[in-house]
Amino acid sequence: MDMHTHHDTTMPVDERRKVSLVIPAYNEGRGLLRLRDALTPLLDNRMRALSDGREIAEYDYEVLLVNDGSRDDTLQVLRELRAADPRFCYVSLSRNFGKEAAMLAGLDYATGHCVVILDADLQHPVEAIPRMIAEWESGYDDVYGRRATRGRESWLRRRLSMAYYSMLQSASDIDVMPNVGDFRLLDRRCVDAVRSLRETQRYSKGLFAWIGYSKKDVEFVTADREEGASSFSYRRLFNLAVEGITSHSTAPLRIASVVGFVTAIAAFVYLIFTVVRTLLYGDPVAGYPTLICVLLLLGGLQLCAIGIVGEYIGRIFMESKRRPVYIADIYNDSKV
Ligand code: UDP
Ligand code: MG
Repeated sequence: MDMHTHHDTTMPVDERRKVSLVIPAYNEGRGLLRLRDALTPLLDNRMRALSDGREIAEYDYEVLLVNDGSRDDTLQVLRELRAADPRFCYVSLSRNFGKEAAMLAGLDYATGHCVVILDADLQHPVEAIPRMIAEWESGYDDVYGRRATRGRESWLRRRLSMAYYSMLQSASDIDVMPNVGDFRLLDRRCVDAVRSLRETQRYSKGLFAWIGYSKKDVEFVTADREEGASSFSYRRLFNLAVEGITSHSTAPLRIASVVGFVTAIAAFVYLIFTVVRTLLYGDPVAGYPTLICVLLLLGGLQLCAIGIVGEYIGRIFMESKRRPVYIADIYNDSKV
């Protein structure tokens, strides 16, 4: 070894391990160049020193963007990015399948020893990635980002999301962590575990919890979205919330049975009471309003219960078709 080289940590390129950055993108054309600029220092191994004195190894990086059926020029920009820098790869789906499916596509096509999933809108700071890699190097398999603050967001949205997580936590047996989203690093083993779960109705947060493995959190500060608009409306979030509950818990079915059972018991007690009262005091016919109330109440409860059962039947129906989660159209300039 050259005596004058004090500080030579560069490994031969073929010994370097590979990190894939999986980035779902839906109508993100306007922000992708900014994303590229933000990622470049990381890709060039210029972000290896951590503020706490640790240093991560050098890696080969692969940026795998998943074009989730964007209606803007995202695909065009992806082609240009790839032409300029072959570390940028992309999969383009045949239509918009939703972020959950896009993430699975990314995991399927990623080739790295580990995968970092992040949003295309730079709300997941690139600065946190080296810290995640450091935890991975020290042996953790699933390093998830935990939001220190939630960024700019409406009061209602924050409230709803907090209430929802506590409900999901108590309804399912998975450990749902608040302020943890899809920003995370997965070891190859975790990637393969998640890939083996091919359910079409996906709730990735639950899947990441379900696979287990050793987990570690890394805190990050959510940035505000710079370009475009969030594609998660309240309606979409509501659907995702129902997905989360119904794909990881059968508690609603049990609630329906319990409510039905309690109502039946109450009705039976009332029946005994009525019979006894009629025997003792005769039968003064009255109570038409009460009758209607009970009728409506029971009718409502029944419809609710049928609705809940229907949610699950619907899910069985969808899964029983065994459709693929997504259809890939193009991978790195060639048709799939
Ligand atoms: N996204 C996607 N498919 C969709 C909707 C969103 O791939 O149908 C991507 C989007 O491009 C972004 C990430 O998912 O990279 C998060 O979306 P967004 O920023 O709209 O959601 P929010 O940050 O408001 O949760
Ligand atoms: Mg966003």
